[in-house]
Amino acid sequence: MAIKAVIFDIDGTLSPTISWDYLTMRIGGSLEENAAAFADWSTERITESVLRQRLIANWTRRAPPLKVTFRSILEEIALHDDAPAAVAYLRNKGYRIAAITGSFDIYADIVGEKLGIADRYALTTLIWDAAGRLTDIETNYDGRAQKYIRFMAFCERYGLAPAECVAVGDSSNDMELFRVTKRGIAVQTELEAKELEAIAWKKIRRLKELTAIL
Ligand SMILES: [Mg+2]
Repeated sequence: MAIKAVIFDIDGTLSPTISWDYLTMRIGGSLEENAAAFADWSTERITESVLRQRLIANWTRRAPPLKVTFRSILEEIALHDDAPAAVAYLRNKGYRIAAITGSFDIYADIVGEKLGIADRYALTTLIWDAAGRLTDIETNYDGRAQKYIRFMAFCERYGLAPAECVAVGDSSNDMELFRVTKRGIAVQTELEAKELEAIAWKKIRRLKELTAIL
């Protein structure tokens, strides 16, 4: 089938940065506490509700968790220098472009605005009160299944078959997209989940290599 769409992961793929960790560090939180909270939850020592409270408390150590602050920190994250040209090349060739990230909804919007990607999906929603303070997090811990659900919603919206799509990613939560499209392009960085390579259609080191494939 002809290829009609290209779906990008964000962290590690369009940018070299893990946005969750970057935000945690820049806002004065502890990466160790972040990891400990997830570890306590995954071993059932705390409930999911307590996990969310600990994540927010960790982001609130130095300053109130304001949307304006989160947004300005996430705007600092640089994309790969060849990302804008690669996306523009694909758009000019007529491919529909989408991004699906396990990270925050406001970050998907920032990246989407920078690259002109209107179809963007995030697995983590930050909930703000009327004063713009963070009150809760909605996140999905099974990123692999949840990315697949977003991908299928994208396909349905535009009448695309999965086999008409290419998935570009570096993370284990991209596995289902690689499997269902049969056209996964693994981005080989130090962050890459090596299991992707076993089912990858192509492997690249830099996004600009996409112009030789698509
Ligand atoms: Mg990634």
